[in-house]
Amino acid sequence: MTEAGDDGAQAFFKALRASFDEILAAGRGDPRLVDALTAQAFQTFDRNAEIQSEGQPDPACARGCDDCCCLHVSATAPEIFLAARFLRLTASAFARHGVDLCAKLSEAHAQTAGKSQQERFASCLMCPFIIGGACAIYSVRTLACRGHVSFDRDACRAAAAGEDAEALLSGAHRAVRSLVQSALQASLRDAGLDWSPCEFLAGLDRALRDEDCEARWLRGEPVFADLREDAAVAQDMAATFDALKAN
Ligand code: SF4
Repeated sequence: MTEAGDDGAQAFFKALRASFDEILAAGRGDPRLVDALTAQAFQTFDRNAEIQSEGQPDPACARGCDDCCCLHVSATAPEIFLAARFLRLTASAFARHGVDLCAKLSEAHAQTAGKSQQERFASCLMCPFIIGGACAIYSVRTLACRGHVSFDRDACRAAAAGEDAEALLSGAHRAVRSLVQSALQASLRDAGLDWSPCEFLAGLDRALRDEDCEARWLRGEPVFADLREDAAVAQDMAATFDALKAN
């Protein structure tokens, strides 16, 4: 990024952090807090990824293409609770079609638990939410899923088949995803909430099994602390958030 680009990214981060701060200040006791935070995160991502990717080639990603959906996905607590709510609300509708997404999730979590990112990709275990080649939770998919955009479908397919291939990914989507997720994490941390991301399936499995998980998170309990991905990275991020706040 150029210096101007860095300044722009920092200004974007600060403005977004302030907007998450406002949502958190206004809605700490509101059961719709998770909806408000994720709506802000997803809408900001979608709008800015589109702006930042102007002039780029069209993405190769399309419905029916699920080659990347065997990757490790990391997610923050609000993303996890939103997906948990979606799964609870849609369970009977999916059941009418003979699909039990919660059971599929439990099974997948049991198979992927403890696997590194590389081991998980190498094992080719698909995300449990792929149904007929499409994401069954598309409207509430994580920022990580939204930010993974490829320009080369053949390379994705080859990599998923275990070949030594690497697809060219959209840097614009990746950068916007990183800024939006970081701003959300910084605000959650400032509000005294568990903020560090964890593996999506592990967090979601817990949120579904423990009906009180979201309420405990809202009370400031570190409900996903033991699922935290990398304590050293979290420490570095916390220091960066503090430094940016002091600027
Ligand atoms: S949540 Fe949806 S988009 Fe994300 S990995 Fe799973 S199937 Fe793919």
